[in-house]
Amino acid sequence: MKLKTKIHFLSTLMMLILLILSNLGIYFTFDKRLHHTEYTQLLGSAKELTVALSKMTDEEEAEIVLRAYVPPNGALRVAGADGDDILTVQSMEGYDKKFPVPTKDEAFTIVPYEGYEALSIAIPTIWPTGEVVQLQMTQVLTDLKANLGLLRVVMVGITLLAMIPIIISSMTLGRIVTQPIEKLILAMTASRRSGTFQQIAVPENGKDELAQMGQTFNELMIQLEQNYTKQEKFVSDASHELKTPITVIDSYARLLQRRGMDKPEIAEEALTAIRSETKRMTEMIEQMLNLARNNEPASYLFEPADIRSLTGEAIHMISRAYNRPIRLTAPSRLEATTDSAHLKQLILILLDNARKYSEQPIDVTIAEEETVVRISIRDHGKGIPAKDIPFLFDRFYRVDEDRNRKTGGTGLGLAIANEIAIGLGAKLDIESEEGDGTEVTIRIVKHPASQ
Ligand code: ADP
Repeated sequence: MKLKTKIHFLSTLMMLILLILSNLGIYFTFDKRLHHTEYTQLLGSAKELTVALSKMTDEEEAEIVLRAYVPPNGALRVAGADGDDILTVQSMEGYDKKFPVPTKDEAFTIVPYEGYEALSIAIPTIWPTGEVVQLQMTQVLTDLKANLGLLRVVMVGITLLAMIPIIISSMTLGRIVTQPIEKLILAMTASRRSGTFQQIAVPENGKDELAQMGQTFNELMIQLEQNYTKQEKFVSDASHELKTPITVIDSYARLLQRRGMDKPEIAEEALTAIRSETKRMTEMIEQMLNLARNNEPASYLFEPADIRSLTGEAIHMISRAYNRPIRLTAPSRLEATTDSAHLKQLILILLDNARKYSEQPIDVTIAEEETVVRISIRDHGKGIPAKDIPFLFDRFYRVDEDRNRKTGGTGLGLAIANEIAIGLGAKLDIESEEGDGTEVTIRIVKHPASQ
């Protein structure tokens, strides 16, 4: 069954059950109330009659009074102590049937009588002869039946009338709920078929859950599309970047094959080039894997760490490997909650760039700024042109001049650094002046609240 039909059917059924139950409640309360009113009225006139009889001494006179008190649709009996009728009076022909008398525990009895109900009561009284008799009064409830019948008709009519807006509103409700879902299904089916990322039309200032669902779906589609495009670009960039060293290797291998056997200097040159390109490819593949790993948030483990000592370790590694002087200015100890391994990797990437693109000593400064720790890596190299700065975090992006040199570097270092900074919740800023050098600053929150 379709969701729309389910909502429509269930809400209508629920409302119908509710209406029927409330109508039944009203009907039975009324029914009880009307019977009670009939009973109290009959009892009232019986009591009046008893008072009137108590003042009389003459049986004939009593009989006249009794005739005056007989109910409009009913009968009146005076029964002696032995149960025999002393007197029976009825308002209409045929009401001379003996109606059951209530027992001591009952207030009244009700029996069916010619399509109606007959209500009977009995009270003791003193007959003009001085004998204690029982006064039995019966009322045939013709008006009550008519009133209850009218009530039933009114209730059925109201229920049927009420069903019209209920059916309309349940259909509207079904449509309101299912329309956005149908739109979603259509968009998803179309996206699946065409391999695109289709969005749905959502009311701009819609605040309800359905509007939110539509907005979230559109956001998801945008994100999927961006990721897909990014991924596609990465694959094409990566294959393009890998093609260059492969072409170089291939052409040197051919040179080696053709002329390398006789000329050792050509063989030497070819093998050196092949080794250097192989090294570059290995480095690039390692960095690509690194990039994929750093994308996983689960690989980050936040623990208290001494920023000075971990920066010192990174400095030591670079300065020893490349024999480059690196100066550190920092407080003797500065603790922060972070992932030491990733932060160290980030500092290593920035130090490596600083040493690659400058000749002079490198300056590293660590300082505390309220809730933030700032680590700045400054080199005094050639700097980066302002037009390139916005693209430095793009994968495989390299400043033209460095790309043309075709030596070292893959254009992945800063992309990896940026991914790590995101993982660490850190901010990465690059300031550079052509000819004056570059300063890259990492800002990490000392104690991130979520950790
Ligand atoms: P690469 O492996 O080429 O160094 P990066 O992503 O680390 O890749 O850097 C991208 C480009 O940014 C580099 O090719 C270089 O042109 C430029 N760059 C990065 N750091 C510096 C720096 N400290 N000084 C000058 N240029 C830099």
